[in-house]
Amino acid sequence: MGQLATAGAGSRLSTLVVAATHQVQNRIGDALANATDGATFERRNPADRHDVVSAAPESNVGDVAAAVAAARDALGAWRRTTPTARADLLTKASRLLAERAPAIAAEMVREEGKPLADATMEASRTPKNLELYAGEAYRLTGTTFPSDDTPLVYSTRDPVGVVAVITPWNFPLNLASRKIGPALAAGNTVVFKPSPMTPLMGERLAAAFADAGMPAGVLNVVHGVAAGAHLVGNTDVDAVTFTGSNATGQKIHAAIGIGRRVQLELGGKNPIVVLADADLDAAAAVVARSSFSLTGQACTGAGRILVDRAVHDELVERVVTQANAYRLGPGDAPGVTMGPLIDPAAVAAMERWVATAIADGAAVVCGGAPATDGELARGNFFPPTILVDVGPGTALATEEVFGPVIGFERVDGLEHALESANSVRFGLSAAICTRDMAAAQRFAADIQAGMVRVNRPTVGAAFNAPFGGVKQSGTGTHKEQLGPTVMDFYTVSRTVWMGT
Ligand code: NAD
Repeated sequence: MGQLATAGAGSRLSTLVVAATHQVQNRIGDALANATDGATFERRNPADRHDVVSAAPESNVGDVAAAVAAARDALGAWRRTTPTARADLLTKASRLLAERAPAIAAEMVREEGKPLADATMEASRTPKNLELYAGEAYRLTGTTFPSDDTPLVYSTRDPVGVVAVITPWNFPLNLASRKIGPALAAGNTVVFKPSPMTPLMGERLAAAFADAGMPAGVLNVVHGVAAGAHLVGNTDVDAVTFTGSNATGQKIHAAIGIGRRVQLELGGKNPIVVLADADLDAAAAVVARSSFSLTGQACTGAGRILVDRAVHDELVERVVTQANAYRLGPGDAPGVTMGPLIDPAAVAAMERWVATAIADGAAVVCGGAPATDGELARGNFFPPTILVDVGPGTALATEEVFGPVIGFERVDGLEHALESANSVRFGLSAAICTRDMAAAQRFAADIQAGMVRVNRPTVGAAFNAPFGGVKQSGTGTHKEQLGPTVMDFYTVSRTVWMGT
C-alpha cells in the first residue's frame, strides 16, 4: 500500500485549513454575476475535506439562457472580426495564462487534487493549445470547383454559431482550452460550463480571455451541477462540444435532436496487451504509468491488462512492486506521486468495484481498501489496487472504473488478446508490449480503438495529433479533436455558385 508523505505535511495542512475560499461567479456578457436566485455550491479540497476551496453559482435555466443570449448578441460582430484580431486575442490570453501558470497550478492541486508536477504540466501546456489555435484563425481555407455552370464555384467555412463547451474535471484547463480555442478562432461565440468539481479552474481560464480584451459576450461562463443540462436544452445553442462520462454523453445525445451539432468525447475501458516476448520491466512500467498516473483518473488510463499466460505471474509481481512504490498524499506535499480521488463518492465507488470483482471470482494482490493512515484520513485516498483472475465479461473487465483499480486477465497469444480486448463497448486507447513488430502492426491494425500505442503507455496526447475514440467512446468525430481537422466541428461549409 502507498505511504503518506509526511515531510512538512502537518504545517502545510494547517495552512490549507485557513486558506481562503474563492468566490467564483458566472461571466455573462460584460458582467460577473451570481445565480439570480442566489443558489451556490461549494467545492472541497479532495486531499482535505475540511478545506472549502471554492464556492460558485448554481445557475438556473434563466441564468443559462442569459449567457446564451449574450453569446447570440455578440456573434454577429465577432464572426466578422479579422483573423488577426481573433489570433491576437487568443495569443494574448495564452501569454497571460503562461505568466499565471505557477499560481494556477498550485490552485489546481488544491481544487482538483493532482500532484503539483502534473498540475504544472497541464497549466503550462494549456497556453500552447491557445497558441496553436490562434494560428487556425488564418487557416480557414475553402476550395474552388471546376463547373460547367458558372465561372466560379467555391466553398467557404463559416462559424457554427453559439457553441456550448461542457467539460470534465480531470484536465480542467487543457480540455476546455482544446474546445474554446478552436471555437473562438473560427468566429463562434461560446458558453463554457466547467465541471462543478473545478469552478475555480474554469474561472482562471475565462479570466485570461477577459483580461486579454475579449469583447463582451464572446466567451460566457455558467457554473452549476444542473447547468450543463440547461445549456444542452437551450435550442439557441447551435453546437455542443462535450467531454465526460458515457452516461452523461448518452443523455446529451438524446437531448440534442436533429439540426444541432454535437461532439462527444467519452470514457474507455482501455486494454494493455503484454505478449510473452515483451521486455517485462518495461511492460510493468507501461502498465503502472497507464493505470495509476493521475490516480487512474484519465480517460485513456488502462483498466484491463491482458497478459500472455506464460509471463502473467512475473508481470503481476513487477507491477505490484511499482504500485507499492507510489506515495500517496496531498499533491503539493514533498515526495507525493499519487494524489487523492476527486470526491468521497469516488472512494466508495472503488470499494464497490473491488467487492464486485471479488464476488465475480477475482483476487486482490495489492491495495483494495481506502488509505486512511494519519492525515490521509482527511482526504479521498485510495491506493493502487490490482486484481487477478478477472473473468472476461465481468464488470471489472468491461466497464470504466476511473480510479486506480485494475484487473489482470490471462490470454493465450495475440489472437486471443485481440478478441478479448475488442469484446467491450468502448474503443478509446489501447497498448501492446512486445518486441515482435509484426504482432504490433497486426494489433495496431485490428484493435478497435481510436488511439494505439506500441510499447508506450495508453495515456498522454500530442496536441497536434488526432485524439479520440471509436464505438461508445464518443460520437466518432474524434478526427475533429486536435489534429489537422480540428476546425471541422467548429465550422460549417457553404458552397457558392457565383454567376455573372
Ligand atoms: P461527467 O459526465 O459526470 O461530467 C462532465 C460534464 O458534464 C460536467 O461539466 C458536468 O457538470 C456536465 N453534466 C452533467 N450532467 C449533464 C447533463 N445531463 N447535460 C449536460 N451536461 C451535464 O464526467 P466527469 O466525472 O466530469 O469526468 C469523467 C469522465 O470524463 C470519465 O468517463 C472520462 O473517461 C471522461 N473523459 C473523457 C475524455 C476524452 O477525451 N475522451 C477526457 C477526459 C475525461
